[in-house]
Amino acid sequence: MVRLIMLSPPGGGKGTHGRWLTQQTGAAHVSSGDLLRAEIARGSDLGRQVAAYTARGDLVPDELILSILMPVVVAAARETGGYVLDGFPRTLPQAKRAAELGVELGLTSDAAIYLTAPEDELVARLLDRAERDGRADDTLGVIRHRLAVFARETAPLVEYYRDRGILVELSTDRPEAEVRADLRDWLEARGLMLPVDRLPGHRSCMPTSTGVAMKIEE
Ligand code: ADP
Repeated sequence: MVRLIMLSPPGGGKGTHGRWLTQQTGAAHVSSGDLLRAEIARGSDLGRQVAAYTARGDLVPDELILSILMPVVVAAARETGGYVLDGFPRTLPQAKRAAELGVELGLTSDAAIYLTAPEDELVARLLDRAERDGRADDTLGVIRHRLAVFARETAPLVEYYRDRGILVELSTDRPEAEVRADLRDWLEARGLMLPVDRLPGHRSCMPTSTGVAMKIEE
């Protein structure tokens, strides 16, 4: 079972390709942004704290994100044997903490998939998404800020994972099918693709008031 970290600037395609990767491998999709938006939608105190950061395009503090995400990652790995982390880790302290916990639990990641595209393309994709999904943080000013936060806080993870020998860098400035073909080759070379008749649908993990729930969509 595959354990992947998706790394990309906002608009780089980690959501789109992360979702596809989970469908092909049976690993659970853990999207930090989706988890945070679900918490905000619940209207909890935690959600209100989170919204103060996400609305500005700032990162949620490491301690807060680790307390929300780590139980979900552990549950995902327990339920499916793997995970595709979409949006986490996003800072060096998050990456180091996740790696420590991974060693304790015998869960080390197979690869960090780094998706790149030129900045004007990223902005265009996010503005396009804003029209479709109406996400509160997809306005031009907040998009520019999120790109700057990526460059400052998250880009150092590229060298961190390269040094660990698990970085896979792919351009998404080309048709989606070409990116998928490269990802498929990578997975097949490692025997990580599930046969078509065993594809489980899209599985994602969400925290609930009593623990973590696995959601399965065809
Ligand atoms: P994008 O990659 O387009 O910025 P996400 O849905 O991944 O979108 O994240 C949306 C927001 O959620 C981020 O701008 C940030 O405020 C918050 N967030 C998501 N993941 C993390 C994380 N690992 N650490 C801190 N904040 C996070």
